[in-house]
Amino acid sequence: MRYTIDHDLHIHSRFSICSSDARQTPEAILAYGLASGFRLLALTDHAWDDEIECPTPFKWRTLNDAKALLPLPQSPKCRFVFGLEADMNCFDTLGITPQHTQELELCLLSASHMHSYQFGSHPDLHTQSPEESAARYKKRLHLMMDAPLPFEKCGLTHFTCGSVCPQAPIDWLKLLSDRELEDIFTKAATKGMGIELNFNPDGYNQEDLKIILHPYFIAKKAGCTFYFGGDAHHPEGFFATRSRFEKIVDLLELEEKHKFPYVTETIAKANAESN
Ligand SMILES: [Zn+2]
Ligand SMILES: [Zn+2]
Repeated sequence: MRYTIDHDLHIHSRFSICSSDARQTPEAILAYGLASGFRLLALTDHAWDDEIECPTPFKWRTLNDAKALLPLPQSPKCRFVFGLEADMNCFDTLGITPQHTQELELCLLSASHMHSYQFGSHPDLHTQSPEESAARYKKRLHLMMDAPLPFEKCGLTHFTCGSVCPQAPIDWLKLLSDRELEDIFTKAATKGMGIELNFNPDGYNQEDLKIILHPYFIAKKAGCTFYFGGDAHHPEGFFATRSRFEKIVDLLELEEKHKFPYVTETIAKANAESN
């Protein structure tokens, strides 16, 4: 059975500094989910755990502040869960404790934010060569997956994101060998975390699209499961999300059995509660 698109697990509200868009309210996000026919949505703003020191000049919003958006609006047709997009800083410190991850309904883990946004006056990451960037990203991914987290409700965001190496946003990917990719995705599959899909297939030429798809085919072969997350920061980001997701399902030939179990289980639980 073909993979059905029934969710979007990566959405930012106005709370995220990179959104700061007054229109991006929880109510507007739920309306998008209902209009798209989704059964499950997740709010995943950027925030740093209040209990973890982050000695960088970047002024993070905190996890406690993010909770000001609770309770999220709900619909019997669409469950809206409260999650977070957790970051790693330039010291490779993950910005959420295992206990707080457990308390969230969903936690997306981002090791790929290696551009200047969070790293301001620490140029070591965003001036690295593509070779150094690929090696550093690999190290960060393993560190993240070695943390004692409840991976059954954790997602690995935008693996092929250009922010790993802004000066070579696609070429850095060619520097991870198949063996290295297999190691990463075998670990992700063993831990049970979901792999996010959200690249825009129409944004690449044929050659580059092949490079972007390659790691996901390796992930699929390694036994990983997948979820979709549009990563919208503004209402315009909702435009064509569903058709983009459908194209990815076709390109990767995804079936329902490849769906991150968290999605199916959360929707089933919401259905049982509303009956
Ligand atoms: Zn991100
Ligand atoms: Zn995001």
